[in-house]
Amino acid sequence: MKITINEIPVSGIVLEETNQAQILDLERTDIKFCAPVYMKACVIRDQDKIQIELKVKTEMLIVCSRCLEENKAVVDKEINIIRSKESDAVIDLTQIAREEIILDYPARALCRADCRGLCPKCGRNLNVANCDCSQQDTFKRGIDIEL
Ligand SMILES: [Zn+2]
Ligand SMILES: [Zn+2]
Repeated sequence: MKITINEIPVSGIVLEETNQAQILDLERTDIKFCAPVYMKACVIRDQDKIQIELKVKTEMLIVCSRCLEENKAVVDKEINIIRSKESDAVIDLTQIAREEIILDYPARALCRADCRGLCPKCGRNLNVANCDCSQQDTFKRGIDIEL
């Protein structure tokens, strides 16, 4: 979705577009999308400026790096862009939307700060239930200390 500044009508223009996240190259191994990326731009011609109100909506699934559970995160942003009429002849709104979505990616993909992750031995999700492996470890450590 691109706009050419000198083609914007005096009355302004509204643009809408929906793209698959794969097409926008947004997917990562730890970030998947369960909804397409919706963009809506309201473009207003002001005296010597172009004002764009860009809405971006999508839904992503963040894969926890410890327990591998997928957690949904809604992206619903509104970005205000102001450009002078002389600046960049073409504004690539898809690229701006893409960068805004990437800004919402978590620095560390965790379902919660104290996620206990998967047991390295049996693979059980320790947020859901304890497994016997950890109890055995504790038991062994106890013996070591006594000896
Ligand atoms: Zn987790
Ligand atoms: Zn285990």
